[in-house]
Amino acid sequence: VSEKQTLGFQAEVKQLLQMMIHSMYSNKEIFLRELVSNASDAADKLRFEAINNGALFETDPELKIKVTFDKAARTITVSDNGIGMTRDDAISHLGTIAKSGTKEFFSKLSGDQQKDAALIGQFGVGFYSAFIIADKITVETRRAGTNPTEGVRWESEGAGEFSIEAMDKVSRGTDIVLHLRPEEDEFLSAWKLKSIIQKYSDHISLPILMQKEEWDEEKKETLVTEHFETVNQASALWARSKSDITEEQYVEFYKHVSHDFEAPLIYTHNRVEGRSEYTQLLYIPARAPFDLWDRNKRGGIKLYVKRVFIMDDAEQLMPVYLRFVKGVIDSADLPLNVSREILQESRDVRVIREGSTKRVLSMLEELANNDDQAQKDKYATFWTQFGQVLKEGLGEDATNKDRIAKLLRFASTNNDGDAQTVSFADYIGRMKEGQDKIYYATGETFTAARNSPHLEIFRKKGVEVLLLTDRVDEWMLSFLQDFEGKELASVAKGGLDLGTLEDEAEKKQHEETETQFKDLAEKMKLSLAAKAKDVRVTFRLTDSPACLVADTNELSGNLMRMLKAAGQ
Ligand code: ADP
Ligand code: MG
Repeated sequence: VSEKQTLGFQAEVKQLLQMMIHSMYSNKEIFLRELVSNASDAADKLRFEAINNGALFETDPELKIKVTFDKAARTITVSDNGIGMTRDDAISHLGTIAKSGTKEFFSKLSGDQQKDAALIGQFGVGFYSAFIIADKITVETRRAGTNPTEGVRWESEGAGEFSIEAMDKVSRGTDIVLHLRPEEDEFLSAWKLKSIIQKYSDHISLPILMQKEEWDEEKKETLVTEHFETVNQASALWARSKSDITEEQYVEFYKHVSHDFEAPLIYTHNRVEGRSEYTQLLYIPARAPFDLWDRNKRGGIKLYVKRVFIMDDAEQLMPVYLRFVKGVIDSADLPLNVSREILQESRDVRVIREGSTKRVLSMLEELANNDDQAQKDKYATFWTQFGQVLKEGLGEDATNKDRIAKLLRFASTNNDGDAQTVSFADYIGRMKEGQDKIYYATGETFTAARNSPHLEIFRKKGVEVLLLTDRVDEWMLSFLQDFEGKELASVAKGGLDLGTLEDEAEKKQHEETETQFKDLAEKMKLSLAAKAKDVRVTFRLTDSPACLVADTNELSGNLMRMLKAAGQ
């Protein structure tokens, strides 16, 4: 089809555009970061496809990004010679939001500008952020390897529609032309654009070119020349040595790879040599993504081989329970034409995954065991955001089970609130003389666990009990029977044996009472035969008259409730 067609944006795009323009206005310069980031992704994709099809480079093998502006026309143009888009690509990539979790995202928006700005940032403002400063955007693009007659022009004023038509485009790749809103002339300046590029996009590994300006003695003004110069460092950030990278550059690189808007919580950058040679630059975000629990969500590790981009979301490089980790792994050993199938079986990949897992765990251990309060606080943040996911590791990663167990934090009867701050080591440090078990109570909610009658005897004896009320806890407990030789014991299991915590006099008195009420217990057992397996005299209660307990080897009440709810 060659005539011009007008199409409507997907409803979500309209919604996002409106909200974004308002809530992101105070941060409008990020439009350039987003467009440069897309241009860089497009170059990565071309380089990758060209591994098996060199013809895609046509006659123009040097990948680059150009940023130009036209004062008279009041436009800024970001051009790349990357992969480009077909007509269908342009319609689907620039007219709809294909991200997983889009529905949840929209349901979380509150109307509060500041909160929404953070959410929108987290969702990824991307291409549409250009509408903050532009009232019209023209995209001219041609997919690598197609004929010059197969170019596409996409245009929109960001309201509800966009137009699309065929065009001739000699050069491969994409030009994005921003027609500035009336009040945005500050961006029509080489100095301004250059400083934004250096602030946000210095780490981009391809050259970003801008036209040189020169002082004209006759006209007494600076004029734009036809000569282009590179305005960024143009080398892959992770390949540079640590001492040459500033904190700010690490943070901006994180925003580029993660599409996150906020700074990361912590990162680690290492070159590993040995059985396998690779570089890892790994980040833990400061906030869980809204789609943390979405099984189809995009993972966070980009795989490069000798600085050539291979794939996003290389899930084989990180275990599932560390799916929140973002960053880059660059291998020196893998072949360039590696596929997901090959990754699955590769010994090198296994070595990288094990090494990266250990790296992430030691990064967390450093935070958790640090004496510095700021680091401790970071661990608390980590735990609140990702603790529940980390727990999955106890079942998934037998090799590192002990290390993961040390990183766990729980709510406890030792504290007033429901904050999960107590480690097993803290608990063991407070154990009573003669206590040999770690006691825990499970429950559907913190309040339910905290007020459980099972806790009465522990309160009386001053024995601390961990309160486990997260959904994954029961599942986790099936993989965690003890910690450093101390058995984990539920307070709700029958035959509660407080071991040497009971003294001889108490034991004797208990035995006497038991004999005294033996007949009564037998009668009750008969009349409750259909409902209870046994009726026993107990000493575990101080205020409540009776409580239900699970048999020592049985599923706990809470787990039974969960299985029932799940229809099992
Ligand atoms: P994201 O980069 O997170 O995928 P964006 O909103 O930034 O989201 O971009 C949407 C999509 O549009 C990209 O995924 C890509 O497919 C396409 N796109 C945007 N800019 C370019 C470009 N310069 N070259 C090729 N494709 C592009
Ligand atoms: Mg993008």
